[in-house]
Amino acid sequence: THFGFREVPEEQKETLVGSVFSSVASSYDVMNDAMSLGIHRLWKDSFVSSMLPKLPPSLHQNPGTTPVATREQFRCLDVAGGTGDIALRILDRAREKFGSRDIQVEIVDLNQGMLDEGRKRVAKTLYYNTPQITFTHGNAQSLPSHIADNSIDLYTIAFGIRNCTSLPAVLSEAHRVLKPGGKIGVLEFGKVSNPLFKEIYRQYSFQFIPIMGKILAGDSESYQYLVESIERFPSQPEFAQLMRNAGFQTGQLREGKGGAWTDYTNGIATAWTGVKA
Ligand code: SAM
Repeated sequence: THFGFREVPEEQKETLVGSVFSSVASSYDVMNDAMSLGIHRLWKDSFVSSMLPKLPPSLHQNPGTTPVATREQFRCLDVAGGTGDIALRILDRAREKFGSRDIQVEIVDLNQGMLDEGRKRVAKTLYYNTPQITFTHGNAQSLPSHIADNSIDLYTIAFGIRNCTSLPAVLSEAHRVLKPGGKIGVLEFGKVSNPLFKEIYRQYSFQFIPIMGKILAGDSESYQYLVESIERFPSQPEFAQLMRNAGFQTGQLREGKGGAWTDYTNGIATAWTGVKA
């Protein structure tokens, strides 16, 4: 059976996305490792390092000299943040690399099951019961109303935007809540350019992934859907253009240094970045 969004009426799409992620929430982290052979970890590490090359100096001088409550906080929003893969990397990087814990990440996700898994996971970290990490149920296309305009320093969305009904709605919400000068990073599956590698990847995704989904999660349809949603997502330059249309400044419409995006593993994954002017 085909499970593609093309055959699904728009109003049912969010319900469908909800049920896809509910049925995989508990096995989600294991499946990610299995499907990507662990490589998603490297993509996420690179993505987070590139989004957080440094912290503003005010945030990592003489920690402990001012009461935490009055110190300026670096505010991140990790949308479609699921079980916290990106959020925890952001906090770890700030702490390990810059010695800063004056940074907060709010995870927003549409699926309660994923948020619950995330909370369980955070309970095993040193961020448990601190204001550094919070979980909010909400939709990327119309962010919860407590998140004010011009309030966020860094907005990330990793492997979540392709499930959204309207990419322009997600991007315009991101633009609205970011501070002027704030950064957006979108990590998502891209298009592979090398023809030989592309063919291998196609075989892998259409044959291996649904079978693995069936074996490991007892569910091939959800994984069939994931593969199809990757195929439907815009190409690297198309998505960069959507970011510009939403008002973001990006690099040039090309890959690499000075460009609007960076490909990982030949474009299997891509990180697009932009700045709110
Ligand atoms: N960012 C995490 C990561 O990289 O591991 C999770 C990615 S997971 C593949 C996609 C997530 O997007 C799911 O947790 C799903 O519930 C969430 N999601 C899908 N549509 C959404 C929407 N419109 N708003 C917020 N979250 C959404």
